[in-house]
Amino acid sequence: MRMSMLSNFQNYKIFTPGPTPVAEDILRMGSWQPPYNRTQSFSELTLEILEGLKVLFNTRGEVAILTASGTGAMEAAAKGCLSPEGRALIVNGGVWGQRWVDICRANGLPFEEIQLAPGTTVDPGDIEARLIGGSFDALLINGHETSTGVLYDLPAIGEIARRHNAIFIVDAISTVGADEFQMDDWGIDVAILSSQKALALPPGLSFVALNQRALDRLDSAPSSGIYFDLKTYLKNQARGQMPYTPAISLFLMLHERLNQMRRAGLDQGIERHAQLARYFRDQLPDLSLQVFPLRPSNAMTAVRCANGINARELVRILETQHSIYVAPNPGELETRVFRVSHMGDQHEEDVDGLCIALRSTIDSLRPVREMSQ
Ligand SMILES: *Cc1c(COP(=O)(O)O)cnc(C)c1O
Repeated sequence: MRMSMLSNFQNYKIFTPGPTPVAEDILRMGSWQPPYNRTQSFSELTLEILEGLKVLFNTRGEVAILTASGTGAMEAAAKGCLSPEGRALIVNGGVWGQRWVDICRANGLPFEEIQLAPGTTVDPGDIEARLIGGSFDALLINGHETSTGVLYDLPAIGEIARRHNAIFIVDAISTVGADEFQMDDWGIDVAILSSQKALALPPGLSFVALNQRALDRLDSAPSSGIYFDLKTYLKNQARGQMPYTPAISLFLMLHERLNQMRRAGLDQGIERHAQLARYFRDQLPDLSLQVFPLRPSNAMTAVRCANGINARELVRILETQHSIYVAPNPGELETRVFRVSHMGDQHEEDVDGLCIALRSTIDSLRPVREMSQ
């Protein structure tokens, strides 16, 4: 690829639910020479990061840091906390619920799923009905199903999991930092996060938070290979070291981000996502667009197009003519729905710019529709 083509990437505005925009000051840290990591200073940095992560998850448990994308952390959690002798119930409301299904299948972990129509939420009563009788020892869900924009009712579901003694594992990758998340108070045993969502960092790091119940499971689980064995991470992290060379540059950026988030206040950070989401959603009626899910998150808006506007085409025109990336929708929603993230270093002016581009794109798509009728 020519350099000029590469530098083109710099000109895009992104509204994708990962990666998300990274602030300038954090980006600059990525250009530092990575320091040697087997040192006392790096151990101190790591220990401070671990404290910051516990605050972010709202847990008194432990957090393992992996140099991997979110799926790596999901797989590590499943291998460490599920067993071939048990059975997991998976709430599958889209691509990310399906990721749990694929992980269990690939690792020989027995499961059943509750499949949801796209954009709908799960009725906690349906979960309870399946858990009664004790044939499941684990419940797997995503806090926010990022493919449809649905935010699940985690406190209600956590209470049910606890009542029926199922270990509750939550992929909170697009939840933590954007919507309220109380790991301990909501009875969540394992929670997963990655760097490229509301943390507003480049992709490459992911995190598995575990409470005592999950740590006990981990202890009794057979070894899950080398790289994704969470026990090895927790053991080394106790002295501030990582078992294998981590994404050192991302550690520096993460340390700074956690400090920034703590200084600004975690509640304010969540309120900020809510504000931006409202600001965007308030402009949708004028554009003949609608919020798609029944129970939307602060992290992202899945947007339903008016009749005759092809969402896939709209996504393509935003990219090619306006240098804006929004996310297309996977699967059967592809032509009707697209997704706009509110995570990362984003401001009202950015949303205004997006809405202007949406207006012009929608206007340009209308005549095509009328001619083809
Ligand atoms: C982004 C995301 C993931 C992460 O996937 P990776 O590409 O492996 O980082 C997982 N679950 C949810 C809900 C997500 O939004």
